[in-house]
Amino acid sequence: MIIKAIKPLPVICFLLIVSSASAQQIKLSKEIEHALTVVDTTQIKADIAYLADDKLKGRLPGTEGYQMAVDYVVNRLKSLNVKPAGENNTWLQEVKLRKAFTKDATILFNDGQNKHIEIGGGGYVIYPDPETPNIKLSAGLVFAGYGVSEPSMGYDDYAGLDVKGKIVVITRGSPDKFSSSVAAHTMNTTQILKVAAEHGAVGVIIASTDSTARLPNISKGIYSVMDKQGSVAISRIYYSKQVSLFGAVDYKLLNLLFQNAGKSIPSVVAQLKAGQSASFPLITSVNAAYSSTYQDIISYNVIGKITGSDPGLKNTYVVHSAHLDHLGISTPVKGDSIYNGAHDNASGVASVLSIAKIYQNINEKPKRSVLLVLMTGEEMGDLGSGYFAKYPTVPVGSMVADVNTDMPTIIAPLLSITALGAEHSSLAKQVNEAAGYLGLGVEPDPEPKQARFTRSDQYSFVLQGIPAIHVKYGSKTTDGKNNLNEMVAKWRAEYYHKPQDDINGIFDFAAGKKYAQLNFLIGYLIAQDIKRPTWNKGDIFAVR
Ligand SMILES: [Zn+2]
Repeated sequence: MIIKAIKPLPVICFLLIVSSASAQQIKLSKEIEHALTVVDTTQIKADIAYLADDKLKGRLPGTEGYQMAVDYVVNRLKSLNVKPAGENNTWLQEVKLRKAFTKDATILFNDGQNKHIEIGGGGYVIYPDPETPNIKLSAGLVFAGYGVSEPSMGYDDYAGLDVKGKIVVITRGSPDKFSSSVAAHTMNTTQILKVAAEHGAVGVIIASTDSTARLPNISKGIYSVMDKQGSVAISRIYYSKQVSLFGAVDYKLLNLLFQNAGKSIPSVVAQLKAGQSASFPLITSVNAAYSSTYQDIISYNVIGKITGSDPGLKNTYVVHSAHLDHLGISTPVKGDSIYNGAHDNASGVASVLSIAKIYQNINEKPKRSVLLVLMTGEEMGDLGSGYFAKYPTVPVGSMVADVNTDMPTIIAPLLSITALGAEHSSLAKQVNEAAGYLGLGVEPDPEPKQARFTRSDQYSFVLQGIPAIHVKYGSKTTDGKNNLNEMVAKWRAEYYHKPQDDINGIFDFAAGKKYAQLNFLIGYLIAQDIKRPTWNKGDIFAVR
């Protein structure tokens, strides 16, 4: 760089202002600049069209259609000069999925005098136990608010509450003061079960405070991942042997339990929303018994690698993930029963393949290595990613960040983004730099109530302490109305998790190209940075 002669003061001030306003601007080498342009909208369309074809029958794990998707991405990665990074030098990691069903579930609710509370038939469900086929237990009930214990955030539903050997009744929600990702995390059943277990509870019952809400339908079974020894590795309905009951009760039943304890649902809910914990013993005790039956299937994550250039840092990895599975064949809608999952998430897989293509066109690889991971079982509760993040095919601790892609919703030009989770870690830096380079605005999450940060594979990495993000669309539109979130909401109502989400839906493949460029660039900048990504100091996800 040429050092110029000292300029008069006013000019320097002017320059400082300009440079601070454009502090996010990064400069890329000619090679990278060119490589970004090789992303091909025709190829993106072809990848989505194949993965979402009727012949893949909705890519349900354990089916031939899912296997066709696996074969397709393996071949595509091979052709893009990516190397295998699965188990035993293969492209694959085996994921043993267990579908569990509840049989013969009964709960008897007894009031303080050991008289049964009249519940008028049902009002509850018990989730299956993926490990123990027959369970019986008796325990007292304690209401533990939202089931949140975050003293660092000034909120603890368990403060002064003895739940040892008890079943905690919890309503899902969070104090209004929690940010969207913190709320999403603390409301997640995995976290609720973990916190309850750590406080000594033997059961968790999720209670609805919404009189119109229906109980979850678990008749089709619930999946977990089993480890090689046959124990639960990853589950959204199981935490440990100690917590042997996980269920749900409806509003009517909760109302009876509250009445028995002299409490009212609306006043307790108001207290909780205001950020004041409202926990109390429910007087009631229960006798519960249930059985579980199982169906086991084998599925696969697909893992490819681009080796980094730095002798030391190449043993660390930046992960680009996207789920390969979808919902298979299910309830017909408008005469179609194949849930093709073109946006969800063939488009995300196409984006990861586009990233591979950019790397194919770069001779000087980034310092760190890059993993491209196509996950199974996301639609079953982030199961493939949960297993991969916990039992990676690279050394534990070597993955420095995850940049996940799940249904970017490429239905309109990409003008602005929101990076779910970026506010928690140093990854915000690379997000801002990459977005700035591509001229994209960065916005806060416009739909905090959707709890999107915990609703896809990035959350599996977060749970293992690995900083992660998931880039979604912002609200900017070409007509300046900046209401893209409304458009997406409309799209979602018609297409999301419906057979109509096929290749004939709405697509903006140029937006898909820009999205892939952006995600590549974020990952590339992380992989080039000798500083390992960190959670922000004191962040809720940092302490685990
Ligand atoms: Zn989905």
